[in-house]
Amino acid sequence: MKNTITWLASSLAVLALTTAPLMAQSAEAKKAELITKLKKVYPLETCLVCGDKLVTAGAMSQPVDYLYEEQGKNPRLVRFSCQDCINTFQKTPAKYLKMLDEAAAKTNSGDGAAPAAPNHEGHHLH
Ligand SMILES: [Zn+2]
Repeated sequence: MKNTITWLASSLAVLALTTAPLMAQSAEAKKAELITKLKKVYPLETCLVCGDKLVTAGAMSQPVDYLYEEQGKNPRLVRFSCQDCINTFQKTPAKYLKMLDEAAAKTNSGDGAAPAAPNHEGHHLH
């Protein structure tokens, strides 16, 4: 009996050791996957804070993909031209998220549709 317990304890220890780093990695992978997914539908090509183009040919700096996570809400992807802009964003995230929402609403309403019918917009402004 004693042997079984020892075996069980050691296998549990091994299990804990092997699953912990795996779980951490899969969380990172999930995050990266989410960023890739959100990037495809990201409405802006410019930095949300300073308005610089995110991807400029021959640019020295790479855009920064930032996942904004709020409790009880879906994570949001926000893209910045540099780390400094993330710091600015973090001071008033609500303001910039609103800008992002407005940009997303614009791209969605103008998705392949004719530029006519202005009445289609403003439905959400109740
Ligand atoms: Zn910027």
